[in-house]
Amino acid sequence: MAALLLDFDGVLAPLAADPAAAVLDPACASALRTRPVAWRLAVISGRSCDDLLPRIAAARPDAIAGDHGVEIRLLREGRTWVHPDAVRLRPAVLAAARALGGRVEEKRWSAKAYGAEMSAPPPGVRFLAGRGGVDVLADVDWDKGHAGAWILDTWGAASAPAAYVGDEATDELAFTALGPRGVRTVRVAPGETTAAAETLPDQAAVAGWLRAVLSGVAQM
Ligand SMILES: [Mg+2]
Repeated sequence: MAALLLDFDGVLAPLAADPAAAVLDPACASALRTRPVAWRLAVISGRSCDDLLPRIAAARPDAIAGDHGVEIRLLREGRTWVHPDAVRLRPAVLAAARALGGRVEEKRWSAKAYGAEMSAPPPGVRFLAGRGGVDVLADVDWDKGHAGAWILDTWGAASAPAAYVGDEATDELAFTALGPRGVRTVRVAPGETTAAAETLPDQAAVAGWLRAVLSGVAQM
């Protein structure tokens, strides 16, 4: 077995001015849909699972993780897991997002305040500077990296070849967590320092990278 752990926006979908308009890159969809059977695909996003799943369905993922990893759906196994603290802290997360101001998008277990400025979060809440605003999450020791590790472990793929591809601050947490586990880390459009071992110049380069890896041309 080998595993691809991929972010959605900015990696599998070109960034859209309106996040609601983001669609799966057809070239990425094609590369992933025809992947060899040994390859499993997990898509890990800040979007909720309900938002993410229809956008990514054409790539035939084996698992998805939403709200920055606190909800995980193992689609093959028909199993859903949610971090219990994300459930408990959801009211505090939504209240903190509204207090930040800007346009607030409520997700399932997290929120985003578009146009808001970073400030000190209240207890139980974590703020991350994200694209166009502030990501508001439950302050739990769990991020996209933990979700990726959980998925690999649950698949029995802890020592299998794996790669994580992401493009923003929340993905840096995953690079830091998964790199030492031997996961190949790839940052798309690095506009800043990155913890990833490799970089791709832009989203348009992702499909070619996927094809090369899935065909075995690029060693994992
Ligand atoms: Mg992204």
